[in-house]
Amino acid sequence: MAVRQIVYLPDKVLRRKARPIKDFGPDLQTLIDDMVETMRDAPGVGLAAPQVGVSQRVIVIEYGEETEEGEEPSPPKLYTIVNPEVARRSEETEMGVEGCLSIPGLVGDVERAVSVTVKGQSRQGQAMKIKAEGWLARILQHEIDHLDGVLYPDIAEQVYQPVPEEEDEYVDEANV
Ligand code: ZN
Repeated sequence: MAVRQIVYLPDKVLRRKARPIKDFGPDLQTLIDDMVETMRDAPGVGLAAPQVGVSQRVIVIEYGEETEEGEEPSPPKLYTIVNPEVARRSEETEMGVEGCLSIPGLVGDVERAVSVTVKGQSRQGQAMKIKAEGWLARILQHEIDHLDGVLYPDIAEQVYQPVPEEEDEYVDEANV
């Protein structure tokens, strides 16, 4: 495994529509392992292949479920989804703060569906489906947008520099 270089705006690969994956061989396995390592190194909670300069449809997310205040946070869970697509999204939306590893130093208020159903394939090529809500649903929508060349400032209500206290709060949660 290796940490790969994260690409930043205005790199054109971030604006390209990524190609579907058909070959689940060793190159894909290496890419996924490297993406996980790169995401953890950043650190971030999600990463799409175009963010390491690879225009292919794969995302990784590592995120612990939200817990009630005062409870121990649940251990982070790793999701790898190949050829992901949003099969269903709730009509209900909510505003939340997002950052992006490819757009350092900024965050934005983005309205997203509260819950989504995402279909795709595992790293071995098996069909999979994830139902998610809240933060996980938001991260999924953000990462899948990356595969279509869409970045959060395109759809944000406003984009701004976080004030220092807020930055600490957001740094682990919002960097996707
Ligand atoms: Zn991002």
